[in-house]
Amino acid sequence: MVNALSGGARAVARCDELGRAPFSDTPGALWRGYLTPAHRAALDRVAAWMHEAGMATRIDPAINLIGRYEGTAEGPPLIIASHIDSVRDAGFYDGPLGVMLGIECVAALYAEGRRMPFAIEVIAFGDEEGSRFPAAMLTSKALAGTLDAVPAMADDAGTSLARALAMFGSTPERMIEARHPGALAYLEAHIEQGPVLEAEGLALGVVTGIAAQVRFAAVIKGLAGHAGTSSMALRRDALAGAAEMVLAIERIAREAGGDCVATVGRLEALPGAANVIPGEVRFTIDVRSGAEARRDDAAEAMLDAIRSIADRRDLEFHVERVHTLPASPCDPRLMDLLEASLVEAGHAPRRLVSGAGHDAMVMAALAPAAMLFLRCRGGISHNPGEHVDPADAEAALAVMLGFIAKLGETCA
Ligand SMILES: [Zn+2]
Repeated sequence: MVNALSGGARAVARCDELGRAPFSDTPGALWRGYLTPAHRAALDRVAAWMHEAGMATRIDPAINLIGRYEGTAEGPPLIIASHIDSVRDAGFYDGPLGVMLGIECVAALYAEGRRMPFAIEVIAFGDEEGSRFPAAMLTSKALAGTLDAVPAMADDAGTSLARALAMFGSTPERMIEARHPGALAYLEAHIEQGPVLEAEGLALGVVTGIAAQVRFAAVIKGLAGHAGTSSMALRRDALAGAAEMVLAIERIAREAGGDCVATVGRLEALPGAANVIPGEVRFTIDVRSGAEARRDDAAEAMLDAIRSIADRRDLEFHVERVHTLPASPCDPRLMDLLEASLVEAGHAPRRLVSGAGHDAMVMAALAPAAMLFLRCRGGISHNPGEHVDPADAEAALAVMLGFIAKLGETCA
């Protein structure tokens, strides 16, 4: 019955199946946390699909599920992977779709009795979202060998990571043994989680890298005073100044163009009373771009704007850089292979940066990495409204198979 569906549609249907009990830990909604009963159920189900597609499976000490399809030659494998954990009240496709499409790639080769000159490993990472324990991408880090030690941590219910791992037959110390010996290449298909492809009427895009990020904490100080007795001319209103700053930040990011984005996501006015002029405002600034120089230029212009607005309004200010993440570019040679496969399949060669983090940026430490984005409706993700057209999944599968064939040619 299930085989009546073509590969892309089957990948989507399987994500839908994984969206319900017993593959969710929340009744009536999807939450699949790392090392939960839903995670275990998903491991069993996905392993069965891997077997059906001709793969041998194992679970590593970080509780990543690895399906392996042998090649005609020895050597490092091509890894096709994504994650099967989810945020709370999640959509069905963020993560699992990349795993399901990996399985479909192998299923298509297996059906034709084809072997590549390299093995293919399809991996379902256990923790990308960090939705249970206070650490994200724990299991891809373990596999990529960038996890030196696992700090002690517990979930909201007080269950320690050690105890949760013990239920799956592992320990925090052993997680490090998940380190992979090395890969020929890493490929991840993922929903875009943004509106760019949909807006341009495109099903697919080649990811150029994960955006460089910088985050600031700003404190603006004016003078608190009585809302009724302080004349407008003499006020030093920190919130009115901050409002101007927020708009300046938005304008600068817009003017920077391309992939530059900036967000003031949190803002707090003190003392926070209806009849008091705000004397102090604290807010965050998050700036991202695929190019570190563009990010830095925009961030610098924002700090200049804050300075001049503060000067004009006689406000004090303090801005601290609290977080910096370098850009994680995808491998140029693999991007070219993916794009050639995209063009061959009749798609426009669209390249775009990922504003969100993915396992791919962790895996880039282990192997050259490439990512394929699929259009998702309204750019919506981390939300039950997440939607992927099965026809787009079909198109992605064809492009991934084209990529595998081209990678095979480079090995000849
Ligand atoms: Zn994801």
